[in-house]
Amino acid sequence: MKKIALLGCTGSIGTQTLDIVRARRDEYKVSALMCGSNADALIRYAKEFDCTLLGIADEAKRGYVASALPSATVHAGEKALEILAASDADIVVVAVVGMIGLKAVLAALDAGKTVALANKESLVAGGAAVKEKLKHGGKIHPIDSEHSAVWQCLRGESNFKRIVLTASGGPFYNSNIDLSTVTPEQATAHPNWKMGKKISVDSATMMNKGLEIIEARWLFDTENIDYVIHPESVVHSFVEFDDGSIKAQAGSADMRLPIQYALDYPRHVVREYKPLDLPLNLRFFAPDEARFPAPKLAKSALDIGGDACVILNAANEAAVRLFLERKIKFTQIIQIVEDAMNEERIDGAGGANVDKIFATHKRVYDKIYYRYNK
Ligand code: NDP
Ligand code: MG
Repeated sequence: MKKIALLGCTGSIGTQTLDIVRARRDEYKVSALMCGSNADALIRYAKEFDCTLLGIADEAKRGYVASALPSATVHAGEKALEILAASDADIVVVAVVGMIGLKAVLAALDAGKTVALANKESLVAGGAAVKEKLKHGGKIHPIDSEHSAVWQCLRGESNFKRIVLTASGGPFYNSNIDLSTVTPEQATAHPNWKMGKKISVDSATMMNKGLEIIEARWLFDTENIDYVIHPESVVHSFVEFDDGSIKAQAGSADMRLPIQYALDYPRHVVREYKPLDLPLNLRFFAPDEARFPAPKLAKSALDIGGDACVILNAANEAAVRLFLERKIKFTQIIQIVEDAMNEERIDGAGGANVDKIFATHKRVYDKIYYRYNK
């Protein structure tokens, strides 16, 4: 029986992870559950999965959860993430949103755990720190579909030349919509995937692909990373080898596939699934970086190194929140990130210093959030 600590259990990845466990209760036991503030859902899942180690980021709701579940231990606040990440589990699923996930990843790796990682912001901001930690035991199994694809293509291979990530292009790639008029409702209606609000907006601006390029750099130790627009989201990524041969991984756009693979690695386990309708009509286009410059911006942050990616990520997190709160226009999101990259003092060294990563994140995030929160 594999014990799973699930951090971010009430979100899109979290609930799909619970779907997998629900179907395979003889193989998996949920040993810890954490959410941000959705206490009622946390209580419901704790009861359903008979889980007595719980965490809730919103400290004000700790008492409410504890009184509903008298036999449970309930931790609250940021420290709960670290406590649950290091708890008695075989695999820690980090499915929280935002760079706060870095706390969980580092705590889990410190405790020598296997991390099934959905949270990309942790690697974007803290990739160098995570890589340091990986030297001391612990493993990362990627959940992000593109990275799961690359991981699968690299099985049995010793070297490769280039990674090509695929990108759906989001809801606006093939539309003539005036991007300055886009509303949060339009931006969060993704054509192929049903996801949380932050990643849906990131997909719409294409910053999601930028974050994924940085994520791939740390997972696969290369800067030879390109991306291509593939509206059908069937091919999840390509790996090109030195002889020109290319491997791709394909499947339906269902996150339960990469989640389950991260839990079961190295096995592909039987599951009920909807087969792809053949023949497939797949298209691949060059990106339009004039209209969607975010991936280029992310690549330049990667080239600069140091804390440039921390600044990029913090500015993006603050700007996406402002957009969802209707304080800024859709087109201001990437403009704000670009301004932050130009205005902030970037320290080219020390990308692995964890205290500095959190301090830089907070400084940039707060500055932007309070500047526009009027
Ligand atoms: P959601 O917004 O749907 O879920 C986020 C989860 O994190 C919720 O359970 C939320 O709890 C919890 N949470 C929020 N803040 C905190 C906190 N401070 N401490 C602990 N838990 C917290 O996001 P997604 O599931 O869509 O995405 C999660 C991560 O996975 C993101 O980094 C995203 O980029 C990545 N990812 C997602 C994919 C997808 O298909 N959804 C695909 C690939 C990657 P509450 O509900 O209480 O607020
Ligand atoms: Mg992805």
